[in-house]
Amino acid sequence: MAILKSTLAFLVLAFAFFFCCVMSTGSYDYFQFVQQWPPTNCKFRKCSKPRPLQRFTIHGLWPSNYSNPTRPSNCTGLQFEARKVYPQLQSDLKISWPDVESGNDTKFWEDEWNKHGKCSEQTLNQRQYFERSHAMWTSFNITEILKNASIVPHPKKTWSYSDIVAPIKTATERTPLLRCKLDKKTQLLHEVVFCYEYKAKKQIDCNRTAGCGHQPAISFQ
Ligand code: 5GP
Repeated sequence: MAILKSTLAFLVLAFAFFFCCVMSTGSYDYFQFVQQWPPTNCKFRKCSKPRPLQRFTIHGLWPSNYSNPTRPSNCTGLQFEARKVYPQLQSDLKISWPDVESGNDTKFWEDEWNKHGKCSEQTLNQRQYFERSHAMWTSFNITEILKNASIVPHPKKTWSYSDIVAPIKTATERTPLLRCKLDKKTQLLHEVVFCYEYKAKKQIDCNRTAGCGHQPAISFQ
């Protein structure tokens, strides 16, 4: 009986440990590096600036699961600390990762770290998480890539999904994912996602999550 009790106690403790220390630190398979087109964001959310930025900026770096599309979020871990975003990193992020909605950059970084970054803290600590994100942003300039393919904001023109993906795929040698917002019957290009393997070092194809529909054609404005 005593052996049974202690075995049971051990199992309960082991389960509690697993739940608290493994599950909540976030188990994930890969990263989604999400860049957004601010004008589309501002069409759906209130933005304080009269004219949204006309370049792709970082929305977030999200540890993600293949099996469970509701990626891990709000894991336990170290809360955001502004002092870890040292001055040079801060000026870099103000360019690559601005808060396009209310201009409160630090608060946006804090929200993204607390919701997503903590879930991959075992791989990237807070400093590395923001440094790596900025490096990913600088590695390919989506705005320029699209411009060179004559894909520029236009109120009426539309493109097919593959029209937009093709030049990005050529430049990065990996398949990105496009996300759209539906505005009445129009799909507006909203986000371009790059995928990275578990350690966030190597870019991989994004081919296992849903993006914009292939119909109707995509508007970029
Ligand atoms: P997630 O929280 O999963 O990273 O993304 C969804 C949220 O991010 C939405 O509530 C959206 O409004 C917010 N978001 C996207 N871009 C910005 C931004 O530039 N600034 C702020 N403050 N929130 C943003």
